[in-house]
Amino acid sequence: MATDALSQVMGRIAEIRSRLGMVAPGGRFAEILDAKLDSRPGPVPPAAFVPASFTSRLAVLGPGPRGVVTASELSSYLDAGGIRERNGRLGGEGLLVEVSGGWSGQPLLLPPAAEAWEQMREAAAADGIDLRVIDAYRSWESQDRAYQAFLAGNKSANVLPPGKSRHGLGLAVDVTNGRIVGRSDPEWQWLQDNAWRFGWYPISNETWHWEFRGLGA
Ligand SMILES: [Zn+2]
Repeated sequence: MATDALSQVMGRIAEIRSRLGMVAPGGRFAEILDAKLDSRPGPVPPAAFVPASFTSRLAVLGPGPRGVVTASELSSYLDAGGIRERNGRLGGEGLLVEVSGGWSGQPLLLPPAAEAWEQMREAAAADGIDLRVIDAYRSWESQDRAYQAFLAGNKSANVLPPGKSRHGLGLAVDVTNGRIVGRSDPEWQWLQDNAWRFGWYPISNETWHWEFRGLGA
């Protein structure tokens, strides 16, 4: 009786499995399941962060509203790409993106910051503000030069040692309008009111220096 009931149940299970196209029960089931789990994509290797186009980089990031990533998405991106450990050493890998608004030369930013910068510049332009950048990504060497000048007393602003600045991650800009932007400038007022909407934030008393930390940081 019990055996009949069991074989009936097993028969129904077999029927359901075959209808769903599932693997027949047996010792190999666990093995096949393991193989399937193994074939799931693991963490994205750094190479995946260097695709050909800017758009596909954003596809990797999973863009948030208006293409700007959240603080936690940015953090995952930095971790998965091993970015934090390469402060000042991100050049020459096709990773950094040229952005608009350079005061002189072509500023470079990390893709999530680049997208947010372009969105923010567009919004500022709509309000009659031309956001321009005098400094964005800095290599280890250029950060070191600035730091040495600071130590020698040749810099009025505080300069972090190489490896410590968000400039070395391509996540900071210094905004200019011919002079460094200060509290009396319309650019500063606009940024103060709007930058957070694009994931950009000021630090301490440096009115010209803005850092991309992602939405909701
Ligand atoms: Zn700065």
